[in-house]
Amino acid sequence: MKIGIIGAGQLGRMLALSGYPFGVEFLFLDPSPDAPGGHVGPILHGGFDDAAKLNELAARVDLITFDVENVPVDAIREIAKTTPFLPQPDALGTSQDRLAEKTLFRALKIPTPAFQAVDSLADLVTAVDRVGLPGILKTRRLGYDGRGQFRLRSARDIEAAWAALGSVPLIYEAFVDFSREVSVIGVRSTRGEIRVYPLAANTHEDGILRHSIAPYRNAGLQKQAETYLKRVFRRFDYAGILTIEFFVRQGRLIANEMAPRVHNSGHWTIEGAATSQFENHIRAILGLPLGSTEAIGHSGMVNFIGTMPAVEAVLSITGAHFHGYGKAPRPNRKIGHCTVTASSPAARDKALGKVLKAL
Ligand code: AMP
Repeated sequence: MKIGIIGAGQLGRMLALSGYPFGVEFLFLDPSPDAPGGHVGPILHGGFDDAAKLNELAARVDLITFDVENVPVDAIREIAKTTPFLPQPDALGTSQDRLAEKTLFRALKIPTPAFQAVDSLADLVTAVDRVGLPGILKTRRLGYDGRGQFRLRSARDIEAAWAALGSVPLIYEAFVDFSREVSVIGVRSTRGEIRVYPLAANTHEDGILRHSIAPYRNAGLQKQAETYLKRVFRRFDYAGILTIEFFVRQGRLIANEMAPRVHNSGHWTIEGAATSQFENHIRAILGLPLGSTEAIGHSGMVNFIGTMPAVEAVLSITGAHFHGYGKAPRPNRKIGHCTVTASSPAARDKALGKVLKAL
């Protein structure tokens, strides 16, 4: 069995590492000659929009999955006619467009911030009027890690926001005064089996995930998250890992976005859960029995963004696990992470504090 992975980033690398023990082989597609996946498997070099390379990938593997979302969905629909492509191209297409994503949430009765499409300055004026202030103007496509966003505090910001982003399709959404951000990660196999991980509580700075703790125990929120996740599974007859990121306000979840793939806020599952998100993704798309999503103790995950602490400094912290992705450091680039596991939340927080200090 050979799985093709579109994108050879750190997610692809971790997927491959979790699949090798099952005897699965991998072939990546990535334009970059030094992508992290290349450390653990062969890379077919080509752009994600290179139809010839996508066809070559499809011809050389039994099944295709992805670690990036900016893959042209029309090309994917073509290759999916002959080579199974999971999670489903429709789920990928929806997640690529913030307007489609929020429209789906609305249709599935999953609470989401008030939003409106913006294609002109006049639209923005109307949207600010209807949705209210403060708000965030975002590019509908290709925005990630806080890129392609502009926060509006007053009507005086409208011109500047339009000038900053206004040449592409946009969405304006209400700013949510949240008490916390959480994400849920679940998995559904091609045989319909479903498992859900405990919630992770996530801290972002400048739109980038800095650290997560898990499990974040809150029975009410866990139940809401599972209900919403299952609605999305049903909508797409989904197979693979699915992540939904939420804001928590007054004890209720408000969905921000979904990712039809393994997710940064689930890296803790490598050491902190009975089965990692990466292994469960491979199991799910191959139709194998899923592994337990139970947490083992208490975990904290810290991203290394732009700079990496010394391996020795991190490994001297009890319960710390170091993951370098072999990427060149650049500002705002995720180049590694560390997960600490502990037997109590207090011990976890102490270890997490030490990792943050080592950074
Ligand atoms: P996103 O790229 O949509 O995941 O946004 C990145 C981060 O920006 C989120 O995790 C939040 O911390 C913040 N953010 C995005 N949208 C909103 C919103 N509507 N209200 C409040 N904070 C937001």
